[in-house]
Amino acid sequence: MRLRDVPSADYAFAYRDPPTSGNAINGLGEADRRRPKSVFHGTGGEILAWSALDRLFVALNTGAAMWATVRNLWVLRDADGPLAETRVSVDDPSAMAASIKGKGRDFGADLVGVTPLVEEHVFEGRDIPYKNAICLGFAMDRAAMAGVPDRRSNREVMEAYVRSSKTAVRLAAHIRSLGWPARAYGLNCNDIQQLPLAINAGLGELGKHGSLICLDHGSNLRLSTVLTDLPLAYDSPVDIGVDDLCRTCRRCTIDCPPAAIGDAKQLVRGETKWYVDFDKCAPYFTKTWGCGICIEVCPWSEPGRGPRLSEKLLSKRNATAARQTAARDSVSTAA
Ligand code: SF4
Ligand code: SF4
Repeated sequence: MRLRDVPSADYAFAYRDPPTSGNAINGLGEADRRRPKSVFHGTGGEILAWSALDRLFVALNTGAAMWATVRNLWVLRDADGPLAETRVSVDDPSAMAASIKGKGRDFGADLVGVTPLVEEHVFEGRDIPYKNAICLGFAMDRAAMAGVPDRRSNREVMEAYVRSSKTAVRLAAHIRSLGWPARAYGLNCNDIQQLPLAINAGLGELGKHGSLICLDHGSNLRLSTVLTDLPLAYDSPVDIGVDDLCRTCRRCTIDCPPAAIGDAKQLVRGETKWYVDFDKCAPYFTKTWGCGICIEVCPWSEPGRGPRLSEKLLSKRNATAARQTAARDSVSTAA
């Protein structure tokens, strides 16, 4: 995708007293594992370090996006609800997972995966009483996203969140009708980290731009989640070759106006991974109705390209590994 003129990278908002760096709150440079802390996009009236910027983001949103936000909150009022009195017993978690995934797709999800809810993806201070996460992915309209960052893409993002919340709410209600507790999470979820859960559930991999990359939609998608105790078979993370391309591709690094995307993985709460500089991204993201440049310029987001790209990257990797093995074998034979 080719970018048109995009807004300059000067900051949208100046704090009288600068907040604590979002990178420090996120644990950039920390060697020990710990639970994440909320920094932006809070819920429930909680004051976060970057809440002022978040309020500006809401104020700058387009009317259409605001209306979508209101509808989203209205949908999510049914995130939880009463349980059926009779509980369906689950003898075969694989069959139940297949059935739940089918329901998720019937209700509108493009991607569905299941993973255990692990504490390291639950925000500090939250006590979440569920064992499993059902992760849902929703492709956005690529044509509507083609002009990022603009008002049309802002509206499409917020509409995708409405779709994602509706599906999560319907799926959670279905699970509760089976007598098992379930809660839907959509927009502004700050109890759990939806992205790493989606990676664990096999929806895709983490890209250099800090977002999910999936095989069929690249990064042109949004997530929602259902947490539940319903016994379900788990999916595994996938390897579609994302790291192989991110190591040499610099598309998002070059196109990110505030230069928030670096070319090396970084240590974040005990894990070395791709990381986006929060302090550089967030003000530009706010100024531009949610930006989205990095996810749309990513080659994986080009419709129909992912499967071919993955096949090429994985076969190149296999060929390289075979050559290296042959070279090692010939050295040891000569010795
Ligand atoms: S959303 Fe992506 S392109 Fe936009 S400022 Fe943030 S990192 Fe950069
Ligand atoms: S644009 Fe290139 S470097 Fe950035 S996430 Fe996509 S493949 Fe990786």
